[in-house]
Amino acid sequence: MSDKFDVIVIGAGPAGYVAAIRAAQLGLKTACVDAFVGKDGKQALGGTCLNVGCIPSKALLDSSKQFFNLSHNLPAHGISVENAKVDMGTFIGRKDKIVKQFTGGIGQLFKANKVTAFFGKGKLLKDNNVEITGNDGSKQTISATNVILASGSVPIELPFAKFDGKNIIDNAGALDINEVPKRLGVIGAGVIGLELGSVWNRLGSQVTILEALPDFLSVADADVAKIAAKEFAKQGLTIKLGAKLTKAEVKKNEVALTYEDKDGAHELTVDKLLVAVGRRAYTDGLLAGDTGVKVDERGRIVVDEHNHTGVDGVWAIGDAVRGPMLAHKGSEEGVAVAEWIAGKAGHVNLDTVPWVIYTEPEIAWAGKTEKELKDAGIPYKIGTFPFAAIGRAVAMNEAIGQVKVIAHAETDRLLGVHMVGPGVSELIAEAVVAMEFKGSAEDLARIVHAHPTLSEAVHEAALSVDKRAIHKGN
Ligand code: FAD
Ligand code: NAD
Repeated sequence: MSDKFDVIVIGAGPAGYVAAIRAAQLGLKTACVDAFVGKDGKQALGGTCLNVGCIPSKALLDSSKQFFNLSHNLPAHGISVENAKVDMGTFIGRKDKIVKQFTGGIGQLFKANKVTAFFGKGKLLKDNNVEITGNDGSKQTISATNVILASGSVPIELPFAKFDGKNIIDNAGALDINEVPKRLGVIGAGVIGLELGSVWNRLGSQVTILEALPDFLSVADADVAKIAAKEFAKQGLTIKLGAKLTKAEVKKNEVALTYEDKDGAHELTVDKLLVAVGRRAYTDGLLAGDTGVKVDERGRIVVDEHNHTGVDGVWAIGDAVRGPMLAHKGSEEGVAVAEWIAGKAGHVNLDTVPWVIYTEPEIAWAGKTEKELKDAGIPYKIGTFPFAAIGRAVAMNEAIGQVKVIAHAETDRLLGVHMVGPGVSELIAEAVVAMEFKGSAEDLARIVHAHPTLSEAVHEAALSVDKRAIHKGN
């Protein structure tokens, strides 16, 4: 086999493997190099998302939700279950099986699309050559007309709370705990802290989350964050805001924490500590010194609006570049770059990338928050609708939260849609479609929504923008 390709992708996460498949679909001779080693010590395609991110976290979120519902939702339906127990082997084993199914599935997709997979660490050399170092230290060099860098991200480590894989853990560690910790400390009330904190809280762990910022979930719309914070508190999650960790000391099988807030220094002892203070672009060992590819002050590969690095034939996508660190954003960049390489019209609109946080209630949004619009001086109007007035949500005993639609005050164009409540991870897709087609609140309001469904909350919130919601006072 010739070692000259049309496209080499470095990284087989959701950005890289999607780019490789799309490039191959377009008739380009494609290779994908990835170094991820799975739990069984073998190559595992799919990157962070499939191995230690999106998929395993959703598996554990679902299992823990089923358990939590036994005591917190089913009694309201007149159903009682006594002495419910979680078998941790099955709990973690189910997640591992799902991961294996999906990482193995990518191998099959590569075969079906004739993408050549290489196992090892890829390094971009000058003139679009890629050196691959295998696990055994062996080296080979392949080359291509185009190289797509998709090396993803890794967790940020705090210098005074270094990961030890046992007591102080990252996302991978928090997805592989074999016994419910009595006390779990979490640093960072961001997406990972809330999702994985919820998993262990639902299984009975006493979870304390320390968040450095004074505001809760400031990336989300303030109304949504407020509703979510109230619900998380009811579920027993303790979230301390404005709390900065200053020391973490592992003592026997405990971690002694010191943190500071506006009232001074405090101590807290936990059995395990999950540090989830954000992720950084991962480019360690990726670029030879003379490639000309630049990284910015945050370590991200610099690209233009077409994900081009400025070096002939070198592109970069996913968590390794600017924009939200989300799987679907990376995948769409992968598709677009493959299409640009093939001379087609790729398309990614970073303004309509949806965010979803898979807690209970779920949180989802697309577009601008009210604060962002206020700060930018853009005139807007708002419509909201509570799930408490949605028949389907009440029938499910999940009538929590609301949908909020923000439209331009003069043109009515949709600027942001923010949701907290049941099933909003799916409901947000309607808002994204409407926004992508440059729709207005009026457009959403005129669409027939099935009854009784949760989607009626989107319809009513859109109607409420013009104070004409039917099932609430305006
Ligand atoms: P990655 O998935 O990080 O993949 C990069 C791959 O490249 C890895 O396999 C890595 O080993 C490999 N690599 C790196 N350097 C080299 C090299 N030099 N040579 C060879 N291989 C290399 N996002 C969502 O949208 N939805 C979610 O629900 C969600 N949940 C998450 C839950 C958790 C716990 C975490 C940690 C993340 C979650 N994310 C979620 C974020 C999501 O995982 C990332 O946005 C996504 O994985 C980024 O894709 P990527 O392909 O850019 O990088
Ligand atoms: P994050 O950026 O979402 O949250 C990190 C939090 O830690 C922030 O609130 C930050 O203020 C806080 N923090 C930072 N330093 C701190 C310190 N020293 N002490 C206390 N708090 C501190 O990061 P994350 O939760 O690690 O997740 C990383 C990224 O992974 C997310 O931003 C997201 O892009 C992706 N992700 C997405 C999903 C999803 O889509 N559902 C799920 C998990 C992760």
